[in-house]
Amino acid sequence: MHLVKQQSDADSLWDSEFIRQHDVAGPRYTSYPTALQFHEEFTEQDYLSAVGRSNASRMPLSLYIHLPFCASLCYYCACNKVITQNEEKKRRYLDALIKEIRIKSRNFEQGRPVYQMHWGGGTPTYFNDAELTELWFEIGRHFHLVDSERGEYSIEIDPRTIDADKLGLLKGLGFNRISLGIQDFNEKVQEAINRVQSYEQIEELMLAARNYQYRSVNFDLIYGLPYQTVESVRETIDKVVHLSPDRISLFNYAHLPERFKSQGLLPEEALPPAEEKLQILCAASNQLSAAGYVYIGMDHFAKPSDELAQAQANGTLHRNFQGYTTYKDADLVGLGVSSISLINNVYCQNTKSITEYQACMDDEVVPVTAGVVLSTDDEIRRAVIMSLLCQNWLVPTQIEEQFNINFSSHFSSEINQLNLYVEEGLLARSGNNYHVTPKGRLVVRKICMIFDTYLPQHMKSGRRFSRVL
Ligand code: SF4
Repeated sequence: MHLVKQQSDADSLWDSEFIRQHDVAGPRYTSYPTALQFHEEFTEQDYLSAVGRSNASRMPLSLYIHLPFCASLCYYCACNKVITQNEEKKRRYLDALIKEIRIKSRNFEQGRPVYQMHWGGGTPTYFNDAELTELWFEIGRHFHLVDSERGEYSIEIDPRTIDADKLGLLKGLGFNRISLGIQDFNEKVQEAINRVQSYEQIEELMLAARNYQYRSVNFDLIYGLPYQTVESVRETIDKVVHLSPDRISLFNYAHLPERFKSQGLLPEEALPPAEEKLQILCAASNQLSAAGYVYIGMDHFAKPSDELAQAQANGTLHRNFQGYTTYKDADLVGLGVSSISLINNVYCQNTKSITEYQACMDDEVVPVTAGVVLSTDDEIRRAVIMSLLCQNWLVPTQIEEQFNINFSSHFSSEINQLNLYVEEGLLARSGNNYHVTPKGRLVVRKICMIFDTYLPQHMKSGRRFSRVL
């Protein structure tokens, strides 16, 4: 019932005037507190204490594996990656990663089930078949991966690095979900971003993915790239809808060449201006809604039959560093350079430098570089923010029961702000409960920002955050 309502609301959801009025720069809340709160005084001992508490909780585990290498540079890219053709570099990294898997797994109580694993990059499929197989089996030797029927095992794929046979290999290893980096089908756009891949290539991969019975296929798309227009993106979305992936991520391209050098290689004069970008976003999103995709929240769409949409409907949707996910109750173990773990009440990040990472592994030291131990107040606020982002509601009694607090005294000033947003149509109120309205969902981070206690200090220090546009 809830699902049906979401879909009918979504049909007329994307209103450029509304977004223009309410769009604010702010964090994307893939974590709370955000990574800006991570600090370098966080120690290996803080990490190990969290693992101890995690073992006592016997919570299932989720793994994130970072594989940072790519064969060529996409100019828009803001990921932590290394462009290389050097096989030795890949091998050295893989050896270090396998060592980290061995070292970290020793601290977790044996037999704790892993229900979810994601390989991201970089380009995981830039590793060859033998390396991918070796890595999968090393993980399986040290962590208890549940069988492929119950587990969610996903991998990011650069379509230029894979064919139907390799998709078959990945399925044989145990992956059951894939995410393809599409970005745009328009040739002029592809040439400008230095990422040329044909529609036929993707069509062939989709056919193979269906033959191999992958449970879910995601497409990553980007709006705001050079030469994109409402019309060109409409053509891309037509092709996407025809190929019928289960999920779609439609990301905003943020042009920050001073931070990400390669973005300076894009033809700046060909970037769509803010107003056109907004029209592209609204037209593309309405097109996806009309084709039957449900808007999940912040960049994500899914077919109503996909487990992401179902998780949202039954209250088990979660948000982490990969965006929205279906598995809520698990401790996340990050493995590989720059990966982030969320274990018990602790976020901690591995070093971002491959050289440092490999040196830590040579010394058999956990490569923690920064992190944060959450206070009780952080945990309460995180629960509120995640409920708004994932379930689109806020039920104060649930928070009171979970944390044994009085919501109205804990959040007296925040409630005033919530009520202002009710007047502006971002929220609807029923008794003491708040529901994010369909339009409010387009700018939901603005609502979440009410509960971010660290935001004023970041705003004061001139920190720049992204916007919808
Ligand atoms: S977009 Fe992906 S494939 Fe391209 S450079 Fe970045 S990480 Fe590598």
